[in-house]
Amino acid sequence: MPDTSPSNGLLDGRLILITGASRGIGRAAAIACAAAGAELIITGRTSGALEEVDDEIRAVGAKATIVELDQTDYAATPRLADAIASRWGRLDGFVANAGQLGQMAPMAHIEPDIWERTLSVNLTSIWFQAKTFDPLLRAAPAGRVVLVSSGAAVGARPFWGAYAVSKAGLESMARAWAAESEQTNMKINLLDPGGTATAMRASAFPGEDPATLPSPADIAPAFVTLLSEGCEGHGERYTARDLTGL
Ligand code: NDP
Repeated sequence: MPDTSPSNGLLDGRLILITGASRGIGRAAAIACAAAGAELIITGRTSGALEEVDDEIRAVGAKATIVELDQTDYAATPRLADAIASRWGRLDGFVANAGQLGQMAPMAHIEPDIWERTLSVNLTSIWFQAKTFDPLLRAAPAGRVVLVSSGAAVGARPFWGAYAVSKAGLESMARAWAAESEQTNMKINLLDPGGTATAMRASAFPGEDPATLPSPADIAPAFVTLLSEGCEGHGERYTARDLTGL
């Protein structure tokens, strides 16, 4: 198991983009990557929260660029890619973390607009970002991709609706993209965080005591491992438990 303690230098000099970094798992992943030496690009819709994450990243001696971005604003992604290309010419890591729970309901009761929005945020926008960032990841000496999945992607989850479908689609996309990228320097993997104390988890399980769950900071070292040059896995599905020993 590599050293995933803070300030381990595992990501020194690496440029990593994390979507949905304004709170929860994405925020903790960004801070852990910063502590491990990375420069961050952090996205989300809530600029005030992103600014607070930026402060935390500076506090560990790293740099971040804030990008206010709604996953469903498809035109924003090529603009962002162009800006990355002209400033850095490469992207060392892409973490597709932003996600929405949508509506927990029987299939027959799901509202069409919520179905479409959930699929857009959790799957289609990530495909579009993968497609758009692929050349920048290939331009990096060791491009690493972490696609954040969920246990809902596998098996049958009554009432998890479009969320479960979107994560199953994401897993299928990840396997195809990884197989297509065998001959590149990229490593593309899925990470299932497992139940983690965040706002999303609280809305799915309102009666649960969050103190019984790992915190986002507990699982964040898994991201550092998968984003490091030393990550050899490719086309794999990891759980945070596998990688952190939680
Ligand atoms: P949170 O709800 O705490 O955070 C979600 C993040 O996604 C926020 O930063 C939010 O930022 C961003 N986001 C949501 N919608 C959009 C959008 N339309 N455009 C841009 N950004 C958006 O969730 P978690 O931290 O729990 O979840 C992170 C990932 O982990 C998700 O993919 C989730 O499916 C997955 N996961 C979580 C588990 C858990 O137990 N917590 C278990 C399994 C998987 P903002 O609102 O500022 O846009």
